Amino acid sequence: MTAPRSSTQADVIAHWSEGKLFHGTGGVTAAVTNPASGAVTGEVLLATRDDARAVIASAAAAFPAWRDTSLARRTTILFRFRELLDQRKEELARIITAEHGKVFSDALGEISRGQEVVEFACGIAHLLKGEATQNASTDVDVQSIRQPLGPVAVISPFNFPAMVPMWFFPIAIAAGNSVVLKPSEKDPSAALWIAELWSEAGLPAGVFNVLQGDKVAVDELLSNPAIKAVSFVGSTPVARYVYATGTANGKRVQALGGAKNHAVVLPDADLDVAADAMVNAGFGSAGERCMAISVLVAVGAIADDLVERIARRARELKVGDGTRDADMGPLITRAHRDRVASYIDAGIEAGATVVLDGRTVQPDGEADGFWLGPTVIDRVRPEMSVYTDEIFGPVLSVVRVDSYDEALDLINNGPFGNGTAIFTNDGGAARRFQNEVEVGMVGINVPIPVPTAYYSFGGWKASLFGDIHAHGAEGVRFFTRGKVVTSRWLDPGRGGIDLGFPQNN
Ligand code: NAD
Repeated sequence: MTAPRSSTQADVIAHWSEGKLFHGTGGVTAAVTNPASGAVTGEVLLATRDDARAVIASAAAAFPAWRDTSLARRTTILFRFRELLDQRKEELARIITAEHGKVFSDALGEISRGQEVVEFACGIAHLLKGEATQNASTDVDVQSIRQPLGPVAVISPFNFPAMVPMWFFPIAIAAGNSVVLKPSEKDPSAALWIAELWSEAGLPAGVFNVLQGDKVAVDELLSNPAIKAVSFVGSTPVARYVYATGTANGKRVQALGGAKNHAVVLPDADLDVAADAMVNAGFGSAGERCMAISVLVAVGAIADDLVERIARRARELKVGDGTRDADMGPLITRAHRDRVASYIDAGIEAGATVVLDGRTVQPDGEADGFWLGPTVIDRVRPEMSVYTDEIFGPVLSVVRVDSYDEALDLINNGPFGNGTAIFTNDGGAARRFQNEVEVGMVGINVPIPVPTAYYSFGGWKASLFGDIHAHGAEGVRFFTRGKVVTSRWLDPGRGGIDLGFPQNN
């Protein structure tokens, strides 16, 4: 964090409130770096409690009119947002590559997956329809409706600065809520670009706001009575804290946490298909994906062959600046890069075998970038820290087991339950796995089984606190609440006094 500075300097990354940039008290900032060069490219404002209150007030002021705006008008704006996003997504992808480091094609990919949720939300009218019963009792009709909650908060991690916020805000806005997005302070500019796009699409000022900051901003969102619901995505310790604090303050909370995703490869699997999948899912976005495969569970005698095929492929990957012709970019910060490298050291010390060592990579990028190449560590055992901890880097651990049952126990005994995959040509084994594995998202010969937008995204156990998953029908449910209306239009011929409890008749 840097010393207080003037918020009028050009490279200050501000909040977005009441439909325009907002500098608040403009006090403390944090440096934003380009991970491929190590250069500081901006200073993001870190909100004070007062700044946060001002942004929340913007969302609260905009809510009543937005709630009462017709569904037709709301979805027209969503369609416009979708069109603008589709036309201009390369601008957003460039911002993501510059602050996150992921390669340009990967940045475009995350935007496209977020755009799917916008497209889903364009059809929200169908999912907001309630039920109606005529004459439930004599002359009495009953109908159920779903209404928006009010101002809601979305708190997002660094690894998907566009897609993760888009898991939530299109549905929240389409349903009639106003939104305060608190992006990661490590890559905050994507959120501002999105805010400007909403303005261009015609969204009224204050319906979508951006609050830049850290724990101070989050704590205000968790305690301010105007905020009715919180969608959080980040590491498990913070998710646990957000869920406990938000719910204690009476808010609806879904808090998606960390992961340690295993892929099981059975002896009958196609080893080339499995090796391709391990490389793609282990090293895409430098392993900084909550659905990355970080543990390969090799069943039976295939292990040597499979590890050799993976290492051969991973060795060919080009690590470098995401704006160039690279397969894999740098890690998010130097501290994170060093932390990931320390797990490789610890694995070696504990007796694992490094088959491919990313610490010695020669990147196509600036010397001061936060580089770490693809790393494959074989003969990892479950008690090693390289196995137990979420590393969030390009490190694929290989655990060798003798049977399917051993592989299943390994997964089910772990603390996380985000994603998993099995590679096999045996339909019976795959079917058994999908039934027995205690994980929220399962891939069968699919390494990163991120559900499409009209299904819902969410893990089990320490990968999600709360009981409602993101987007799809569950997302609509999260951002609305039910009301049941019982009505009788009085016929002047009926009436009379009756103090008994109302009966259906
Ligand atoms: P993080 O937990 O450090 O930060 C997430 C958000 O919380 C950020 O906006 C940050 O500013 C805020 N925050 C950080 N520390 C806080 C604190 N002490 N109190 C209150 N707020 C705090 O996570 P990250 O490093 O940005 O992202 C990586 C993590 O996110 C990984 O653990 C990854 O698995 C997880 N993740 C999970 C999913 C999922 O769907 N389950 C998706 C993406 C990322």
